[in-house]
This record gives sequence, structure tokens and C-alpha cells, in this order.
Amino acid sequence: MLSAETAPRAEGDAPRTIRLHADDNVAIVVNAFGLPAGTVFPDGLTLREFVPQGHKVALADIPEGGHVRRYGEVVGIALRDIAQGTWVEESCVETPTAPALDALEKATRIPAALPPLDGYTFEGFRNPDGSVGTKNILAISTSVQCVTGTLDVAIKRIREELLPRFPNVDDVIGLTHAYGCGVAINAPEAVIPIRTLQSLAKNPNFGGEVMVVGLGCEKLVSERLVPADKGAAEDSVVRLQDERHQGFGSMIDSIMTMAEARLAVLNRRQRETCPASELVVGLQCGGSDAFSGVTANPSLGFAADLLVRCGATVLFSEVTEVRDAIHLLTPRAATPEVADALIREMAWYDDYLEKGGADRRANPSPGNKKGGLNNIVEKALGSVAKSGTSAIAGVLAPGERVRERGLIFAATPASDFVCGTLQLASGITVQVFSTGRGTPYGLAQAPVIKVATRTELSQRWSDLIDLDAGRIATGESTIEEMGWELFQLILDVASGRKRPWSDRWGLYNDLTLFNPAPIT
Ligand code: CA
Repeated sequence: MLSAETAPRAEGDAPRTIRLHADDNVAIVVNAFGLPAGTVFPDGLTLREFVPQGHKVALADIPEGGHVRRYGEVVGIALRDIAQGTWVEESCVETPTAPALDALEKATRIPAALPPLDGYTFEGFRNPDGSVGTKNILAISTSVQCVTGTLDVAIKRIREELLPRFPNVDDVIGLTHAYGCGVAINAPEAVIPIRTLQSLAKNPNFGGEVMVVGLGCEKLVSERLVPADKGAAEDSVVRLQDERHQGFGSMIDSIMTMAEARLAVLNRRQRETCPASELVVGLQCGGSDAFSGVTANPSLGFAADLLVRCGATVLFSEVTEVRDAIHLLTPRAATPEVADALIREMAWYDDYLEKGGADRRANPSPGNKKGGLNNIVEKALGSVAKSGTSAIAGVLAPGERVRERGLIFAATPASDFVCGTLQLASGITVQVFSTGRGTPYGLAQAPVIKVATRTELSQRWSDLIDLDAGRIATGESTIEEMGWELFQLILDVASGRKRPWSDRWGLYNDLTLFNPAPIT
């Protein structure tokens, strides 16, 4: 593997660090592959040992028990004396305790409304209910895992035999999952997976053309997945155990007949010019590193502010990556009620983790740590940079459909595929995903724009990463420029003018329901 010793820096690659706040006593090393002992920075700081890229160097002596500060916040307690110029690695610091939930400021520093941004549009698919999609997909819901294999066979035939006749339809997909039977369907928390499936079927990218494939004996009755405004629920369900089905071929025929009628309706959808205010954009990060909070996530935050200024809806999520920065968010709540809802979701998750014998310190992955993030506090401070600077207008419980416009906190686990599934249920039509370590993540249901935190990743994965925010660290771009570039890319992708790499390769993760209720 390359290191600072084996891969000397290119000519002109001057040693660089980034310090984020005047109060910080650490900075992160920018140069690819890190910097060796003896490196002297322009301000005179000298490295006493090798420091990997993205990892922290102490800017001053930090005594045992002293605070390690990044983002102007305490990200660790020194477990031993840390000398100026040395590597602040994981074993040097203890994770600070999370902010108490009973003493938070509520709506005390509500940001003033940002100046409106008019005139930005995209080409979207307007639905009868007023929502606007960015894709035109037939999505077939399922009420139980038992039908997945059958539906897969039917979808293969629909793609081959029917889809060519309906050129305005982008794709046909199954909303398959592991829920539906063998579960405590009446347990209090079962509301989350059931609500998620009900909400998923209504995602604006599916045009309101709901159909459900069920088995017949499962606990989650198929009809529960058909929206109340769809007329007789029976007309939208293919149930494999129904006596009219004589063998497998008959089941496939039933699915194809119902799909064909819906494809005919979806085929009439046309893109039309819509104001940017109709966008519902989800923000997520995965495979984060120390640059996430320096380059990519602040760019997402800037773009989030631009979208909010357009009147659009922006969702940020990932409870365990918000928990340690909650004291920075509740003051930004638009009302005390929104702050209370934020606190309610944090408390619910604290309790959920405690029941499982874990806490939020279980979040950072080995890759996060290798990327320079010592602990969840540091990860969280970088993660919430995605939320930009506007007031928090609303809070969604897991799987709830979005109601308000503006910046919304949608409570989800941080797990990439669970967060993706829940944001789709809440109604996102585009997702922006920042990554430092790299992931080929993608969603079939909505386009995903992937933003790299580092130029090295962006170059190595040039056919997977859509935008290189690493240019901020090297000084080639600013957060503002990158934010505008991302905003424009969101409009292009939402319009179908540009396809993100995950769509070009067809890289789609499975839907993964969040089921905190018991399995039986
Ligand atoms: Ca994530």
C-alpha cells in the first residue's frame, strides 16, 4: 500500500492542513497518502510523526483530560498528553457524552428566512395529486417476501414483452422486502414497517399507479397497501392463492395483465417544466471520512439552502449522526413544537439502542476511523453540515410522508440502505449521497447523485462518482461554487438531462425496511 514514505508528493503538492474553527486545536492533513515526520507547514508547525490523509494533527500541546476541539466543538477528551505536531489517533481520545435531551434550547436561534430564489425549473412528471416525479416507473408493491421470486419472473417478462410498447415508462420494479409475515403485526413498533410500505407505494416517481402482489395467508393483508383513494382495493391486488389461479403460468398472466393496464396509464405521462419548488431532495452520507464535514457535506448544505430558497423540500436524516449535534439543531427549529419533535425522535432512538444493549458509539465503522474520524461526535458534526443554515421546518417519524416544505428532519437509522428506503417512503424524488471511503450505492426508485469528499477517490472511481467536492480541500473550488454546481446537477438529473453513474450502470441496493418490532 502507498504511504507518505513510498509515494513522495508530486512537485508543487505543498503540505496542507485544514482547520475549521478559530477555537480548534487540531487540523486535518489534506495531502493524499498523508505526510511524513519532519514536514514543516507554512505556519511553522512541524510534524513529529507520520499523519495519514484526513487524520488530525495537534496544533498545540493538549494535556491529559484536555478537550480536543474541531468544528469549534469538543470532539474528544485526551486520554494522555498529546504533543503539538503529533497524530491525534483514536486511542488518544475518549468520546464525550452526548448532549442531555432535557436541557436543550428550543427555537431560540431561528435563522431568518433566506432570500427567495426565483426562476429555477426542472422537467418533471406532474401527478394527479400535485406531486412531481423525476422518473416514470411502474412499481409493484408486495405484501410478503413469499411472492418475491414469482414477481421477479413476472418483471423479467414485463420488461421483455410489455415495456418496449410503452416508451415513456422508464422501468418496472418490484418493491420487495423481508416483511409481511412471521412478524408481530400488532406490536406498537410494527407501525414503522407497515407505514413505510404504504408510503413507498405513493412515491411521486411511481405516478400513483399502485398495484400489489400478495400471497393470501400473510399477516400483512395486501389491501392495506392500496391507498384509500384508489377505489376498490381488490382491483389493485393480485393474490397468488386465489382459486382462479390454475398453476404458476396463471399467476404470471394475472400480474402481467394488471401491469399492462397501469403501463398504458403511465405511458401518457410527459415531462413538463415545473418550478424547482416541486423538488423533494433527500440527503445522505455513507462511508464518511474526516473530509465529509469539510468538503462534501458543507456543499450539500449550501445546495440545501439554495433548494430551500426555491421553496423546495430537503430531507436530512440519520439519527445516530445527528444525536451528538442535537444542541446545534434544536435552536434552529422553526417552532418549539418542531424542537420537541426532534427531541422525541432522539429519545426514541436512545431507548431503541439501549434495549439492544448499544449506544450511538456503535455507529462509526472501521472505514470511518481509517478515514480519520475518531468517534461519533466528530462524525455527527460533519454529518449535520448537510443541513445547511435554514430553519428546520418539520420532523418526520420513520416512513411518514413529507407534509411541509423547506428543511425537514426525517428520522431514520444511518444505515445507508435503511435510510434510503425510508427517505423514498417519505417522498424523495432525488437523493444526494456524499462519500469519503466510496460506495457503489444506488436506488432504482429515484436517481442518486454521489459526491466524493476527496479528489483521489473521485479520480480512482471516475465512473461511479458524479461530483468531486475534494476540489474544496485543494483550494481549486469553494463551498459556494461546489454548492451551486451540485444544485445545477440536481436540476439536470431531476429533468432526466443527466444520468448519475448508479443509473448508467444499474447499481441498485435492495429496499431494506426498518422493523424495530419483534419477528415471530
Ligand atoms: Ca448513511
